[in-house]
Amino acid sequence: MNFWERIKFNLSRFMYGRYGADQLSRTVINTSLALLVLHFLTGISLFWTVSLIGYVYAIFRMFSRNVEKRNEENRIYLDKTAKWRTEYSQFKVRWRNRKQYKYFKCPQCRTRMRLSRGAGEKVVCCRSCSHVFKQKA
Ligand SMILES: [Zn+2]
Repeated sequence: MNFWERIKFNLSRFMYGRYGADQLSRTVINTSLALLVLHFLTGISLFWTVSLIGYVYAIFRMFSRNVEKRNEENRIYLDKTAKWRTEYSQFKVRWRNRKQYKYFKCPQCRTRMRLSRGAGEKVVCCRSCSHVFKQKA
């Protein structure tokens, strides 16, 4: 077994039964990194302190052997942020297709809809509230 294989083996033995990284840990680490950058830009030491607490918390979670508790925390985090994460992923799709489609909302129920660009003015019927209106694309 060479040097790197030994390190890899010892690391995997150390991590055996431990929780590892999940979405909550990654969010905490990314937020801590952003706070650290803010600290360097502004010089406000509170950002550094909160960033440090975030890193300690993320490391604690990754090395924790209480997998059930960490799973529960992650599940709560995912439940609470589901709406935002969906909004963000839909925004990315809309941004990627912005030259192909014109996106708009139903004036009555705010449901998102789209029309192919260059289709001209169309009469649109909302699929959720059946409101009929004209929309340019
Ligand atoms: Zn509608």
